Formats: sequence, C-alpha cells, structure tokens
Amino acid sequence: MGGGVLAKTYISANLYCRRVFGCKVYKLALSAATTCPNRDGAAGTGGCVFCSAGGSGDFASSASLPVERQIEDAKKRLGAKGAGLRYIAYFQSFTGTYGDLEALERIYTRASEQPGVVGLSIATRPDCLGPEALAMLKRLAGRKPLWVELGLQTIHEETARRINRCYPTSVYERAMEELRPLGVHRITHVILGLPGETRQDMLETVAYAGQRTDGIKLQLLHVLRGTALAGSYARGEFEVLEPQEYYGLAADALEALPDNVVIHRLTGDGPKKDLIAPAWSGDKKRVLADLNRVLRARGIAPARE
Ligand code: SF4
Repeated sequence: MGGGVLAKTYISANLYCRRVFGCKVYKLALSAATTCPNRDGAAGTGGCVFCSAGGSGDFASSASLPVERQIEDAKKRLGAKGAGLRYIAYFQSFTGTYGDLEALERIYTRASEQPGVVGLSIATRPDCLGPEALAMLKRLAGRKPLWVELGLQTIHEETARRINRCYPTSVYERAMEELRPLGVHRITHVILGLPGETRQDMLETVAYAGQRTDGIKLQLLHVLRGTALAGSYARGEFEVLEPQEYYGLAADALEALPDNVVIHRLTGDGPKKDLIAPAWSGDKKRVLADLNRVLRARGIAPARE
C-alpha cells in the first residue's frame, strides 16, 4: 500500500483514553485477587497452561500490600513522569471477581478514590460473573469509568481444552451480553499462536470477539518459565510464531476487526526474565518498530482523533 492512502485506521488505547478522559492516562498495575477458580479446583486445577505464578499479572504490586501503598509504588515505577498524572487502577492478576467480593469491592473502591485515579480496569474470567459480581461491577461503574477484561484467548473448544481454560466459549458469549447493560468498557484478551491452531483458527477468534467486544488485547503466545506450556515446549510439542508470521497475523486481525473496537494491545507483555520463547519477542522496542513498519506497509495506522 503506497501513496499515503490508508486501508484501515483503528482506535488505539491512547486515543480512546483521550476521548473518554480528555488526556493521556497511565495504567497502574495492582493486585487485589489472589487466586482463580482454575487454580483452586473450583473450575480446574493447574491453571491455564500459559499462566505464570503471578496469575498473568507479572508487573503488578503484591496483593499483600494495602492498595494505597500499591498505587504509590506503581506511580514511583513510572519514574519522574509518574507524579500528577491521570491513572487507571489496573487489576490484572488472577480473577478479579472471584472470592470475597465484599473485600474486593472495598479494595476497588479505595483504589478509585486515590488522587489522580480516573478509572478502574478489572481482569476476570467470564465464568466468574454471577449476579453478585455483576452487581458489584455495576456499583463500581457508577462511580468511575470501569473496564472489564475477559480472557477468552480462543473460541475453539479443542484449543480451550488443550490450554486448560476450563470454560466453554458460550460462557464468554453470555458474559459479554450480561456486561453490556452495565455501561462498562468490555475488553477481550486473545492469544495468537496457541498450540495446534492454524492462522485461520486465530483469525476466526478475532472476528468472533470483534463482533462482541468494545476493546481487544492481542497477545503473542509467550512461553514462560515455570508454566505447563514450558514443559510442552521443551518436549517439542509445538512451535512458537516467527516475527513475520506474528506481524502478518496482527495486520490481518486489525483488518478483520470492526472500526469501533479499541485496540488496547498489539503485542505481548510478558516478564522478560521468565521468557523462554519466542526469544525475539523480548526486544519490545524492536518488535513494535517492525510491527508498525508492516502495518504501515499494509496501510494500517492508528486514527489521529
Ligand atoms: S490465565 Fe487467568 S484464568 Fe487462567 S489460570 Fe491464570 S489467572 Fe486463572
């Protein structure tokens, strides 16, 4: 694609935040939940095969610290630029609507009241959105803008079994419907490169999610130390994606998504110290530069305003 003609513009998370909050917003990675029904036996044991010991929230503060302290620490991690800004309190690790909901709501409420916090983001599983959890989310959404992030990863049941997701895709579908009237911004996590999936399988998941979600996070499959996936990878049971494969897939995914779906993430976000494969994904700056080059060549770019 040449001559500056764009085939597709998409809404980036930055643009979405500027539209909603009127300024740039930084995410503070925090912890409230400490487990997940896919680890404690309620839905499954062992967790999703790719999930790290930190419950897929590896950059977050420890849940053992009061949330106020976690927020202070997370602001400091932003460095000098961390003071006096606007923030989303982001609860990514484990399952944010599972366990003692009253205690969780107290933590979320306190977080939302801290200086500079303009919104909340809570990651959870779609099978942990019963009536009480939905009522909690509704109350929270009544106070500040609320994002609810659901880990779908794939729509294909065979893959879901292989990765030990432990809920059927129909549960995600119902959860998205039940979240809709709450006025929350629904974000779906999709992993590209899951074992056994073809390119077409992955793009089917993206297209399906795109019809149901408000925002999406595309994640390259990372093999992290200490996960079940690491053992499977060591046994040579699957291969990870090559850079050009991933960039092409990400471009296809962006083209397949409706224009109004907010793109919250285009690559992975794993902890480098635990990364086993793909090694190339550890150089985030280079990955982003190369990915953006591929997207530009395809005429795909973030919308400006
Ligand atoms: S990815 Fe989420 S649902 Fe799966 S085991 Fe980890 S915390 Fe639980």
